[in-house]
Amino acid sequence: MAILITGGCGYIGSHTCLELIKAGQDIVVLDNFYNSKPEPLHRVEELCNTKIKFYEADIRDEAALCRIFEENEIDTVIHFAGLKAVGESVEKPLLYFENNVGGTVTLCRVMNKYGVKRIVFSSSATVYGHNPVPYTEDMPVGDVTNPYGRTKYMVEEILRDLCTSDPEWSVVLLRYFNPIGSHESGRIGEDPNGIPNNLMPYVLQVAVGRRERLSVYGDDYPTPDGTGIRDYIHVVDLALGHVKAVAYARSHTGAEAINLGTGRGTSVLELVHAFEKVYGKPLPYVIAPRRAGDLPECYAATDKARDLLGWEATRNIDDMCRDAWKWQSENPMGYGE
Ligand code: NAD
Ligand code: UDP
Repeated sequence: MAILITGGCGYIGSHTCLELIKAGQDIVVLDNFYNSKPEPLHRVEELCNTKIKFYEADIRDEAALCRIFEENEIDTVIHFAGLKAVGESVEKPLLYFENNVGGTVTLCRVMNKYGVKRIVFSSSATVYGHNPVPYTEDMPVGDVTNPYGRTKYMVEEILRDLCTSDPEWSVVLLRYFNPIGSHESGRIGEDPNGIPNNLMPYVLQVAVGRRERLSVYGDDYPTPDGTGIRDYIHVVDLALGHVKAVAYARSHTGAEAINLGTGRGTSVLELVHAFEKVYGKPLPYVIAPRRAGDLPECYAATDKARDLLGWEATRNIDDMCRDAWKWQSENPMGYGE
């Protein structure tokens, strides 16, 4: 039986494909290249010496999905495909609802048609909104501030309703914290389009000279050094969490939300200084005003992932900085054209 990976050419998807193959799983990948290229999958094939079955397809295209389910023995879907830029979602909310929510509804309709009722979904810590930290999975969610976050919350609710309607469904809602880093080979990594919104990709582009300096958004938060705190998680640990989540989905029914984080918070300046250790020199930065909508701190409670999945992150901030820098220094322009 194969696992269908939607959005498998993206940052988290490509790393997860590699770990699934290493764990002996059969996979089929689909992507429409909206935010990726074929190259990462070629590199995954190279790293594991395995040919990967790939479809260039859109999750909103029902006929294309049907063909994939007809041509393959799929029993589980890992659903990464989605748009993820918060700013863009504010400007183009309909695109986000159509792609992330509408696309997921189409995918689930086709899954139902072919009797495939197991899905692992890429949700986000953003659904916790203004809850106190650490975030536990039983907290009320949905207090989100932008359309991107709302699509994650809405899809969580849709998938829960699906489980209520049909007890054969198995849904794992993985709430990611802040994935950074890359595979230790430095062959695959994060390659954002345009000016990066997220901290680590920005740091990396300053380090290779593509940007002049980092702006640290606010040093007056109620945190020890005044800068924002996040739960950064190594993307390989995150990928391994998906291997465990598939095993869980295959042996349970119903819906479960599970945090994938380290449980440890790191401030912007702590991350910059950890990065400087591998970079070997100071990273140019300035203190800038707070970014609208940012929370002072965000980190996970990790007990549920440990208890249900038997999974814990094992890589620390220094590992994340080392591997991120290996990727960016060896691929300064990412995957290129
Ligand atoms: P990414 O953009 O690198 O990967 C997403 C992939 O999905 C891309 O390859 C894109 O081309 C593809 N895609 C988008 N819409 C599609 C469609 N309609 N049909 C087919 N393919 C489509 O993003 P990522 O960082 O790897 O994130 C993967 C998932 O995890 C996303 O759903 C994202 O919202 C979620 N997530 C990411 C983060 C993060 O910080 N990276 C945090 C929380 C949740
Ligand atoms: N941040 C920053 N400069 C940047 C990008 C981000 O200081 O160029 C800060 C941001 O304010 C937050 C942290 O870094 O405190 C993580 O931001 P990111 O966008 O990576 O993740 P998110 O805020 O979505 O958790």
